Amino acid sequence: MAHAHAAPDSAPHSAPDPAPDPAPDTVPDSARRRDLAVRAAVEQGLISEHTPLLCLLDTAGIRASAATLTGAFARALAPGTPVLHAFAVKAAPLVPVLRLLAEAGLGCEVASPGELALARAAGIAPERIVLDSPAKTAAELREALALGVAVNADNRQELERLDTLVARAATTSPIGVRINPQTGAGSIDALSTATATSKFGIALRDPGAREWLVRAYLDRPWLTRLHTHSGSQGVPLPLIAEGVRELYALAEEINTAAGRRQVDTLDIGGGLPVNFASDTVTPTHAEYVDALREAVPGLFSGTYGLVTEFGRSLTAKHGLVLTRVEYTKTTGGRPIALTHAGVQLATRTVYAPAAWPLRILPYSAQGTPLTGRPVAQDIAGPACFAGDLLAAARALPLLAPGDLVCVPDTGAYAFTAHYGYNSLPRPAVHGFTVTPSDTVRFTLARAAQPVSTIPEEAGASTPDALL
Ligand SMILES: *Cc1c(COP(=O)(O)O)cnc(C)c1O
Repeated sequence: MAHAHAAPDSAPHSAPDPAPDPAPDTVPDSARRRDLAVRAAVEQGLISEHTPLLCLLDTAGIRASAATLTGAFARALAPGTPVLHAFAVKAAPLVPVLRLLAEAGLGCEVASPGELALARAAGIAPERIVLDSPAKTAAELREALALGVAVNADNRQELERLDTLVARAATTSPIGVRINPQTGAGSIDALSTATATSKFGIALRDPGAREWLVRAYLDRPWLTRLHTHSGSQGVPLPLIAEGVRELYALAEEINTAAGRRQVDTLDIGGGLPVNFASDTVTPTHAEYVDALREAVPGLFSGTYGLVTEFGRSLTAKHGLVLTRVEYTKTTGGRPIALTHAGVQLATRTVYAPAAWPLRILPYSAQGTPLTGRPVAQDIAGPACFAGDLLAAARALPLLAPGDLVCVPDTGAYAFTAHYGYNSLPRPAVHGFTVTPSDTVRFTLARAAQPVSTIPEEAGASTPDALL
């Protein structure tokens, strides 16, 4: 995309001119690339008896999703409007992923010192980083202000802390406040951040809150942004758009009260849901832009610069887990396939299977798609508790030891958010590309965690500490 280079100042980038030939918003080729990659992973020895588990990232797919995001907004925005698409690092905290997205024109949204360190390691310029988090320490705030990273304050006490810090040292950091529009929950409570009692931001509809916020901006000329993020997965588009409308209305109210354009940038968060039921990309970034145009037409007029913070919609559909079936058995009449992929890689699916269903795609030991009469089977992981299942009673061709199980749509918040239960090590992550002649090239994006590091990270150097 056109805006891959760091801005010289703290402003977000200008939108490129609307592309004459819009990038397609679906990736019809993704299933074909996946089949080729599974086959090649067998042929090139990436998956084997000795390495029964690996994770793959489809780099062309990630690029395509980044292009649909930047293209959809560029087409809708008044020419020259500053825009920064900051990838929510928690969705895929891997330096090569951040580099790939930076090359596609994106920055980073970070919410912890670790995520900030990852963005810096990926070479993201501070003016293309946004720091959000409900519990930033004074030291974290000082570091962000010293770097010039944008900061969104979560609450009144953080704003008071910023008063002191901003008074003491000059900073180029754009600073905003996160609001909770209290527009309501989506279908997954744990991921709904705009409920009446959500822990995030300043609740806009609480008694006196709106007046307090307007006053807070008038008293602090250095507050130039407003931020909201209404939730992730399960929040329908109209509800996300309603939160953004509230954000826009508040910015207008503050600017009218200030008699100038004090709020110059709106950070509308991320939260585009992902379809886990098939390879279809729905809803699309373009559909989200359409919903925003309908609910908040002024958002695209060029009055405000824009920041977005998408995570899941950029990488989820482009990651997959591939694992060998180690054993099979039948218990209580139910066939069970025991694999190496479970709660450590798909934590949410295992603990909340109704909210986070994943597809299971079966392949032969040679890496060809398995066909055969569907039989209800459990796909089990390696962890030592009964609930460690990626799927229960799923109708699939009967699996045998040595067959492969592919778990698509795991490129965000799944294998990139490893859970250390049972001291299971992090598997390797390989990127792949497919050449025009259908050759698959793998590149190691993250090495597998050596088992030897597990005792090291578990107090092996201080074995007698508790004696
Ligand atoms: C998690 C998060 C995002 C990204 O959400 P997605 O659903 O992955 O797009 C963006 N902004 C904030 C503040 C978040 O907490």
